[in-house]
Amino acid sequence: MIRERIHKIQSELPPSVKLVAVSKFHPVSELMEAYDAGQRIFGENRPQELAAKVPQMPSDVQWHFIGHLQTNKLKLVLPYVSMLQSVDSVRLLDAVNAWCVREGRVLDILLELHLGAEETKGGLTEREIENDILPKASAYAGVRFCGLMGMATHTDDESVIRADFARIASLHSRLRTTFPALTSFTELSIGMSSDYPLALSAGATIIRLGTTIFGPREY
Ligand SMILES: *Cc1c(COP(=O)(O)O)cnc(C)c1O
Repeated sequence: MIRERIHKIQSELPPSVKLVAVSKFHPVSELMEAYDAGQRIFGENRPQELAAKVPQMPSDVQWHFIGHLQTNKLKLVLPYVSMLQSVDSVRLLDAVNAWCVREGRVLDILLELHLGAEETKGGLTEREIENDILPKASAYAGVRFCGLMGMATHTDDESVIRADFARIASLHSRLRTTFPALTSFTELSIGMSSDYPLALSAGATIIRLGTTIFGPREY
């Protein structure tokens, strides 16, 4: 089943769009089914679970961390990931950068924009990204700014989701114009199982699918 779902999704995606298989809460046996179907990028959102799965999977897996990361958990996550998609505060950015500089690494990161209803979750504001972080991008020697990540409002109202995706896509293109020296700032990670067709229309370059690939999660 997992194999067929991966092949179906991959056949429908433009070749330039990367698929992250969000494997949180699913056992390694299911991740291996996806791996055997050709999937190489996996997304996890809990540090302990990531650290436990990494040694059980082949070494050519690319792990993306997509959840809230506390600054005291960096060493459970950063050694293993090829991308940290969920940089959701300046404090976390500073801590990640300092850790990478100490380790002599440069880590690919996405800045997570706070999208959706005011009361929902975390994330950076447009102002923090545009006025505080990116003007100082060259001072962050430990990270490579690869683009933006966002989660649309959790709603059945497509017009709300479209508006969220349009906002992050337009911020992304404005930032690329404002900061042309940031040549790596190409990625737009939007779209989950319920809304990825809308995300693709809005210009997603990375989509993050859990349920569509692995079925429902049992919490
Ligand atoms: C869990 C999760 C996903 C995948 O959700 P599905 O609805 O199962 O596709 C994508 N992005 C983030 C940040 C997540 O936490």
